[in-house]
Formats: sequence, C-alpha cells, structure tokens
Amino acid sequence: MSAVRITNGKVLDPANGEAGVVRDVVIDDGRVVAADAFQGAAETIDAKGGVVMAGAIDIHSHIAGGKSNITRLLMIEEQRAYREPAGDFCGCGGGLSTMTAHATGCRYAEMGYTAVFEPAMVAANARHMHAEMKDIPFLDTGGYVVLGNDDFLLDLISSGAGQEAVNDYVAWQLAATKAMAVKIVNPGGINAFKFNQRKMDLDEANPHYEITPRTILQTLLRAVKELGLAHPIHLHGCNLGVPGNKDTTLATVAATEGLPLHMTHVQFHSYGAEGDRRFSSAAAEIADAVNANPNISIDVGQVMFGQTVTASADFMSQHRNRGIASPKRWIGMDMEMDAACGIVPFVYKDKSFVNALQWAIGLELFLLVEDPWRIFLTTDHPNGAPFTTYPHLIRLLMDKDFRDEQFAKLPKAVRKHSIVDQLKREYTLEEIAIVTRAAPAKILGFTDRGHLGAGAVGDVVIYRDDADREAMFSKAEYVLKNGQVIVKDGEIVSLAYGRTHQVAPDYDKGIEAKLDRWFDETLGFKAKTYKIADDEIRDGQGAVIHATKRSS
Ligand SMILES: [Zn+2]
Repeated sequence: MSAVRITNGKVLDPANGEAGVVRDVVIDDGRVVAADAFQGAAETIDAKGGVVMAGAIDIHSHIAGGKSNITRLLMIEEQRAYREPAGDFCGCGGGLSTMTAHATGCRYAEMGYTAVFEPAMVAANARHMHAEMKDIPFLDTGGYVVLGNDDFLLDLISSGAGQEAVNDYVAWQLAATKAMAVKIVNPGGINAFKFNQRKMDLDEANPHYEITPRTILQTLLRAVKELGLAHPIHLHGCNLGVPGNKDTTLATVAATEGLPLHMTHVQFHSYGAEGDRRFSSAAAEIADAVNANPNISIDVGQVMFGQTVTASADFMSQHRNRGIASPKRWIGMDMEMDAACGIVPFVYKDKSFVNALQWAIGLELFLLVEDPWRIFLTTDHPNGAPFTTYPHLIRLLMDKDFRDEQFAKLPKAVRKHSIVDQLKREYTLEEIAIVTRAAPAKILGFTDRGHLGAGAVGDVVIYRDDADREAMFSKAEYVLKNGQVIVKDGEIVSLAYGRTHQVAPDYDKGIEAKLDRWFDETLGFKAKTYKIADDEIRDGQGAVIHATKRSS
C-alpha cells in the first residue's frame, strides 16, 4: 500500500496534547509514522481548511446479533425503504433505526467512525454476532459478553464457590465467545423475571438464588479487576426507565467501593419522581456523583425525536414498555435460559412531556459532567435514537444558540423542569475529539487507536471546518481506514474491512468438564457448543487480541 501524506490540516489529537496544530500526518503501510522523518514517496491530500482527527470510536451501539435481526423483522417498512437505490457507492441508502450490516458500516464510515463496539453479546448468540460483525465493512468491531443473569454464575455465587471459581468462569466466557469486555444488564433481574418478579432494586434478593444485584455486581467488578481487563464492567443497571431510579443509580456508584465501573446509557437511569407528573430530571445529582468519583465513567444514551426501535436484553423493562410500542407490535424472547431479549418500536415525540424531558436530561448530563475523558457520545443506538443523529447531537453540544432554539420549542411544562437553557457550556472541537475518539480508545485500553501519534493505526479523518457542526460531522471529507481512502467528499469510494477486538484471559482448564456436564444436564448441550473458533472471526483474518493479567 502506498504512503499518504495529509498536509495543511489542523490536527486535533488530544491524546498527544495537540489542539489544532497545523502539521503533516503521514501514514505508511497502514500506520501513522513520524511525518518529519518520512522520506519516501507519498500520495498527498491537501487538507487546507480542514480538521484532522483519528477515526471515531463508538463504545456502545447495537449493530449486530439476534436482536438486530428481530428489529429488522419488526420494522419491515424501513427495510423496504432500503431497496430504493440511493445512488451511493453501495446502493444502500437510509439512516434509520434498523439497517443492514452493510449499510451500518457505510453510514458510520461517512461520519468518520472506524470502530464500533456491540455491547450485548450472550454466549448463545456469539456465533451469530461474530458472523454479522464480519459482514460490517469499514469498522473494527468487538462484543461485550453479557453476564449476570446466567444460571451457572448465579449458582456459583449463591453456593459460595468463591471468587476464584467466578474468575475462571468469566475468563472462560470471554475466551469462548471471543469478547472484548464484560457487560451486565439488570443484574439478576432478567433471571428473577422468570420467577415472576417484575421489578428489582439493588438490594432485593433474587427469589430463587437469594442473592442481590449488589452482590452480582460486586463479584463481577472484582473478577474483571483480578483478570486484568482494560475495560471495566460495562453496566446497564437496575430500574432502567423507572421514575425515581436516580436513587438506585447513586447507590450503584457507591456500591463500586472505588473499583472502576462504566455505567451505560445513564440518561435512562437519571430520573427523579418530583413534580405533578412524578417524573423529573436528576441529571445534576448524577453528574455530581460522576464528577466526585473518578472510578466512574458513563455514556449518555441521548434520546432524539423521531421513530426508532428499542432493543434490549432487559426483558423486565421491555415487558413493562410493551404497551407504548409504536407501531403497535413487540417481541419478547428467552435466550437459552441464560438471557432474554425484548424489542419494542418507539417514537420519541417532542410534544410528549416524558420524551422531551428525556432529551433534556441527556443534554444536562453532557453539559454537567466536567471531565470529557469520562463521558461518551452515544444514543445507545437504536434505543435512544439511530447513530446517524450524532452530528445533530454534536451541534447541540457545541452551539448554545442552536440548543436554546430547540429547547424553546419544547412544551412549557418541560422547560420548567429542565436547566438546559441555563447551561452555558459549549463543547470545543477538542472536547468532541476526546468524547468520540481519544477517551473511547483509552477506556477500551487501546494504545494504537484514537490518536495520531507515530505507531497509531492509519484510521484518519478529515472534516471540513464548518461553523455548522451538524453539516461538518455528517459527511467527512476524507476517511482513511488502515491508510486506505474509503471516503472522499463524503462519499464511499472503496471497500475495506476492519478487525475484531477481543481478550483471551487464561483459566483453570478443569472448569471445562464441569461446564460441559452442567450445560448438558440443564440445557441439553455441552458448553463447548458456545466456543467460537478462530476462523469464525473475520475468516481468521482479523482478530486483535488484547493482553490481560491472565494472558498466557
Ligand atoms: Zn445498549
């Protein structure tokens, strides 16, 4: 592959302390090299008037697996819309709540994203998920394995098997499913649903196992620390969407006892129960807790107005939401007893008190959490909105006048309950580069992504510096993937594929026979069924295995 020299662009590389330096960026053989030292021939891209950043990284977006397929099934009207030729390189237009694997890669790449992580992979579904991630072009991907409602784990904890046994099981799950991190969804609650429990708080005991979400969370926090994973537990906490759930969220922060924790789509967990409608913003309290606890990071899960579809392993909350489905259809299912899945189409309306306040709560979190290295730009695609709304969200964060205009359109009752218009903060370009690139790379433990220093992968984006930030971030001028130009003038010009990130911590091999026996007796197949082979990952071409304390 020939070298590329990007000249005259303003380089925004917060990981290396560069905030708008005009300098060359040179990519040789797929990697960024020191521009001054590079003597070879290179294709030149003139980035005058442009801003150069590393490829963006999304740490939480539901892009693959069983639930993505069911969302497509439920939103058949959207799928039909894709069949209309859109005239771009791939003939895959559309930027809606559901799209094909191929269109997912295209829409992300056009916005300058080069890596996206799927946060809800259960062992029973890992094979499907990897097959689908393999099919998404342009992006590096990876999955977070969902634990915390699986009977084997709950049984280990409740029978007092000890932390070491849990650590071996968690390591086995990560290695078997080729996952990048551990996700928990409503710890213990999805399991308790099967015993007719419809609501579960941090200190309520599971009716069958008699252990609490707090115990499950603390046990897995310790496992991830002791295994030495870079990414902390990625938690979708208890009581998602429930008015007054901020108490649970604050108690969850305290329950970490200082261990690192990433709390996801926190907008859905920042609700008070004040006011005549018993629904209010608790964003300020939650932001205070995040600001005061450096072991906590969050992504927002911003809500945007319009049609989307919600897809979650949190069957307890999806079952609760089934009555507000729009269009009126939903699907709920169990997954091999170890997890569940609920799909509910939904329209967020700006005239709805609750939806408009959800929109405001997300923005309040963005504007009140002080450290941009601990907050990430997400809509929990597609749950809060499709990821294609990111450029609009970036404008809301960077442009107070625009934000105030949108806020002024909301119902008066909502404006009375929110402080969005009092918040003067405007994100700088550097902060946008942090929350979309540098910080995601850091929290995933990547040393060669999310920045533009020598040795970084050649995932590089040039944006036209436009005062209209929505226009600027909608279509990148250039996107390079591993040094190959994949987007030019906002259009996809060539096809490339990324790699799959995973960890493979070692475990006591004695656990395998035990697991095989247990799964055979309880579910009728051996645990080794779950093991993904190396050649199932991008046809054996593209795994990036990250080191852990237990790597052999
Ligand atoms: Zn999610």
